[in-house]
Amino acid sequence: MNAPATLNPAQMAAVQHLSGPCLVLAGAGSGKTRVITHKIARLLERTHDADLRPEQIAAITFTNKAAAEMRERAKALIGARAANKLVIATFHALGVRLLREDGSVLGLKEQFSILDSDDVLSILRDAGATTDAKLARSWQWTISLWKNQGLNSAQAEAAAQNDDERIAARIMARYEERLAAYQAVDFDDLISLPVKLLAEHDAVRAKWQDTFRHVLVDEYQDTNAQQYDLLKLLVGERAMFTAVGDDDQSIYGWRGATLDNLKRLPQDFPQLKVIPLEQNYRSTSAILRAANNVIAGNPKLFEKKLWSDLGEGEPIKLVECDGEEHEAERAVARIQALRGGMASGVEGAAGAKWSDFAILYRANHQARIFEKALRKANIPYKVSGGQSFFDKAEIKDLCAWMRLLVNQDDDPAFLRAITTPKRGIGHTTLGKLGEFASKWKVSLFEALFAESLAAQLQGKAIGSLQEFGRYVSDLEHRARHTTGAEDAKVLLLDWLKDIGYEQHLYEGEESEKLAASRWTNVMDFIDWIAKRCGGEIDATGGMTVETQRKSVLEVAQTISLITSLAERGGDTDVLTLSTLHAAKGLEWPHVILAGVNEGLLPFKSEDEEMTAQRLEEERRLMYVGITRARLTLAVSVLRRRKKGRDTVQGIPSRFIGEMKLGEGGPKEDPREKLKRLREEFAAKAKAGAPAAG
Ligand code: ATP
Ligand code: MG
Repeated sequence: MNAPATLNPAQMAAVQHLSGPCLVLAGAGSGKTRVITHKIARLLERTHDADLRPEQIAAITFTNKAAAEMRERAKALIGARAANKLVIATFHALGVRLLREDGSVLGLKEQFSILDSDDVLSILRDAGATTDAKLARSWQWTISLWKNQGLNSAQAEAAAQNDDERIAARIMARYEERLAAYQAVDFDDLISLPVKLLAEHDAVRAKWQDTFRHVLVDEYQDTNAQQYDLLKLLVGERAMFTAVGDDDQSIYGWRGATLDNLKRLPQDFPQLKVIPLEQNYRSTSAILRAANNVIAGNPKLFEKKLWSDLGEGEPIKLVECDGEEHEAERAVARIQALRGGMASGVEGAAGAKWSDFAILYRANHQARIFEKALRKANIPYKVSGGQSFFDKAEIKDLCAWMRLLVNQDDDPAFLRAITTPKRGIGHTTLGKLGEFASKWKVSLFEALFAESLAAQLQGKAIGSLQEFGRYVSDLEHRARHTTGAEDAKVLLLDWLKDIGYEQHLYEGEESEKLAASRWTNVMDFIDWIAKRCGGEIDATGGMTVETQRKSVLEVAQTISLITSLAERGGDTDVLTLSTLHAAKGLEWPHVILAGVNEGLLPFKSEDEEMTAQRLEEERRLMYVGITRARLTLAVSVLRRRKKGRDTVQGIPSRFIGEMKLGEGGPKEDPREKLKRLREEFAAKAKAGAPAAG
């Protein structure tokens, strides 16, 4: 492998282009993300701009985990001190920052809370007075898509095409009211509110355009319309930005991402410099060829070439399996064989670490069977893409508390916190408190201390309500003033003790083992929050580095942005189980693509018609999957697969045929080959033997 600092001429051109907007449009593994980190370093060189400070550079990544990784890479180039000051964040996290600093202009208080998808769903059920979860979820989707297009409820209602949409728009109006009352925002708001803020308030816009002197965006192909607007507002007329992306890896269309953003870029910025990259540094030729063959089935938006000089490598292995269990067993067997170097001497495989392996699949539920097989074989793993960790009841409990500390007007959080653990405040009391609060249009928390509440409730009830209120206020005060990992941990452990959370877990769980595992999750969570509060950390070489200190309250505010355990980082030597979506941008030496069957990949649900557009997105997912692999790739197919309660015949995915596995590289005429070999042989003989005569 090349030295970490090398760039090829095209990458160099992208890094050196500092006079205006730049788009790197290139296939998988061509070093787009590498361009971003190196460009950050270039921007900070004195020869470019002696005044530019790291905090004036914003790099936008697709996930929190990608942000953490990018910061690590930046450290290697510019040192920890400078790298810690860079603004490296997702669009959503950046949105939080904008709103925290300037959201007051929109009437949002500094300590707003961020609702997760479950909260949103329950508010919608309430607002629409329905218990039909499916209906509520469809509203959630519709409202989210509207928001991503920049529509509010009034605009959505005006544009509604049918009764369903009109109803959804009316529900949206109620939903907007509630969010305003709770001083809460949802994920979509984290983009659309900053857009509104910057679009409508000149001074605020000027401030932020001044703050960020260069903006870099990774995975640009998966931005949505609102994110593009946010980018434009952030960079302004000066247009100092670098976007990198690959139209063939656009896989979030279902969530509102649009390739229009790629098409619009050259129109909106005529001075845009577009730079293609053609060399893939990740995969062997066998892997890359299969990827190119598959994606050739999609209409081309931009013509791209991609080649690799890493050699032909191992042929892609097609693994046929009887069913899901068999597939998992074969995956485990393959991994063990590769590690043991037994598999026909695959170069670089013997002695590989667990973290060199990934099993990728289309749908979350496919993980479970692999988890079981890996456990049985004692192979350590992590699951990414699933929302396992933050969906656990114990973590949601604690998150509700955190949210309440951040924002006392967050009624959904208030209700969860006051009843978890139970503190002898019954439903009748809470019902009365709720009535009182809605009558006077105050939050539940505010209502606690209203004098006229006393007339509605008994003294004892009031007493325990107010005791809870005082406790929350005290804790909030401490959380606001506690920074640094060590102190944060003390505070958080005190809190758990105060509310008796451990006891609550052990009393509530039937089995002690389950309670213990929940408590381990809680400790994990506490450690993680504490770590994010920063402070002194040990860097290599015995030096200590001061990372940015954050208060517990600041950290609490961003918790709901992190959706999966994997995003918490802290990679150790474990195998990765991941959805294809969550694998974007990553790479592993050895990859197994699982369940490559019709119906699974391309995914198709019963009641859905497969449109050309959907199929193209599925094909891009397959392309993303194949291109995650560096050295070996196995593709497994099920002969029979589970479908609901039934077992049905498995049909190999059309994408397998499209990989054209039988065909080697460009074929050589056998006679030509013989001639070439003779010549090579002759040349060697000539070089080795003394010249005759
Ligand atoms: P994706 O499309 O999957 O996001 P990418 O285009 O962002 O991929 P990178 O992840 O930046 O590609 O790079 C892929 C791999 O190739 C990485 O391991 C990276 O270190 C390596 N690489 C990129 N450019 C070079 C180079 N000029 N010399 C050596 N290695 C390189
Ligand atoms: Mg990348």
